[in-house]
Formats: sequence, structure tokens, C-alpha cells
Amino acid sequence: MIGAVDIGGTKIAVGIVDDNGTVLSKQESPTQAQRGYSYGLERIVGMLRETARDAGVEISGIGIGSTGVVYPSTGAFGDVDFLPGWQGNNPVEDLTRAFHVAAALENDADASALGEARWGAGKGKSRLVYVTVGTGIGGGIILDGQLYRGADMAHPEIGHHVIDPSGPPCSCGFQGCWESLATGPAMAAWFKMNVQAGRGNRADLTARQICQLAQQGDELACRAIQREAYYLGLGLANLVNLFVPDVIVLGGSVMKRAALFLDGIRRVISQGCRFVPFDKTELAMASLGEDANLIGAARVWHHRFGQRAGRAS
Ligand SMILES: [Zn+2]
Repeated sequence: MIGAVDIGGTKIAVGIVDDNGTVLSKQESPTQAQRGYSYGLERIVGMLRETARDAGVEISGIGIGSTGVVYPSTGAFGDVDFLPGWQGNNPVEDLTRAFHVAAALENDADASALGEARWGAGKGKSRLVYVTVGTGIGGGIILDGQLYRGADMAHPEIGHHVIDPSGPPCSCGFQGCWESLATGPAMAAWFKMNVQAGRGNRADLTARQICQLAQQGDELACRAIQREAYYLGLGLANLVNLFVPDVIVLGGSVMKRAALFLDGIRRVISQGCRFVPFDKTELAMASLGEDANLIGAARVWHHRFGQRAGRAS
């Protein structure tokens, strides 16, 4: 019975997840990062105790997935954009002390990748790339069941590979990153820029609303969809060329409308990936649903401690 903790910029979700990846109980609360780490920790501890009680179980380990830069080797937060003032604090040490069980921390996209690889759309596949497209683009790479890590156990930032050097500036320092071109807000910004003067009520639509308009046949919205599919396709084609994975698992809010983009994505991949067997890479929708982050956080514990009788990976 793993206590799972998903720390995001807007909310913290906590739950109890069994060995089959089933969520037995859960709670969530606004992150309120500005109230400080101690306050956040206190609520996480409280929610873990309550969800364990609700499920009628004792927690045997704790897995954490968190937004932003984290250090899996030490369990500390790095320079976390969305959690100002939390940097340097160590939830792994603090939760281990509070519950007397082993705990592990990963970036939340890596956590979701681990969850989908074991219990979701990537089950049974050796080489998997997980991509989440929402307000940002994140991802994780799983090779033979193991999370790919860079130096110092670092999480690679697939959202920040450059698609168009003349594209919009990105917070990372580059211009035209995948994240600056293919997220929901990027789609909304393009639509806003292209709405003709005098049609101001259409200028502030969200990506979701643009998708709905496109389904009704609106011309500009359909162009926004084509453009989105093109940029999603370019980034995914790069991943296919680099890794030729068995499967790319697609998650995140933009991918809830994936049916609108898939033909365009496949067209781009088939145009530019002809030196690799691109048709062997399946594009699959993330299948763990709204609890994907929580289930992934639980998997973080299994991945670190479950497979090798307690030896850290
Ligand atoms: Zn960037």
C-alpha cells in the first residue's frame, strides 16, 4: 500500500494506491505554495494519514511526483518555478521521518511515464516515450522498464528541444522550443493573433474552445488545428527519429482532443522519419485517466525500491 503524493503548481493530490495501480482513496487541496513549504508538508502528512485511514490500510512506502526541477538522488526540490520558496526542502527526508517508511521523489512527467509503462497504455512495451501536452510539454523515457536518467539522475526536458529557431521566446532561454509552439496556450495565442479586427469576442478562446469551434467547421479554428497537428507532429517525429520507441504514450489536456490532430501528426512523421521503421512506433493515448499522476507517483516507489529488494535504482 503506497502513499502517493502528486505536487503540482495549483493542487496537491494524495492517495493510497495498491499493488495493481488501483487508487483506494484520495484527497486533494490547493497548493498555496506562497504559504511556504512547512505548511504544504503539514497538509501532505495530514492527507496521507486521512487517506490511509479511509482505505483502512497502513502505508508501506511513499512515492512522490512533483512539478519542476527535482533531485531524485537526494529527494530535494530544485529551482521549482511553480513552488517559490520550496527550493532545497526535502520531502523524501521529511515524509520518511513522519511515517518511518522509504520514500522516493521524481519529476511528475517521469512519474506518469512509469505509471503508464507498468499499468497503462505502455504495459508490456520495452521502449516507451511518454509525452504530456497541456500548458507545457513534458515527458519521460522508459527503456526496458527503467526510467532513463541523465547525469546526476537528471530528467531530460523534451519540451525544450527547438523546433523553429525563429519561433517565440521560451522561459528556458531558447526561441521556438516545442513547448513554445505546441502547447494549449501557444495554440490560443496563435488563434488570438489571427482573429480579424472587430471580432474581439473570439480573441480570448482557450485551446479547448478552439477545438470545439473546429469541430463545428470554423475555418480559422480548423487552421489552428492543422498548425497544432504540424507542430505536435514535428516534435513527435524528432522523438521517433531519436529513439524509435515501441510506443509513444500521449497524455495531457491537449491530447484529450487527439482525434483532431492524429492524422496530421502521422503525416508529418511519415514525411520525415523514413530512415527509421516509424510505422513500428505506436501512438497510444494515456489510459490511466484523471488519477494518472497519483498512480504514477505510487509507481515511483515501486520503481525505486520494489524491483530490487530495496536497492535504489
Ligand atoms: Zn524552452
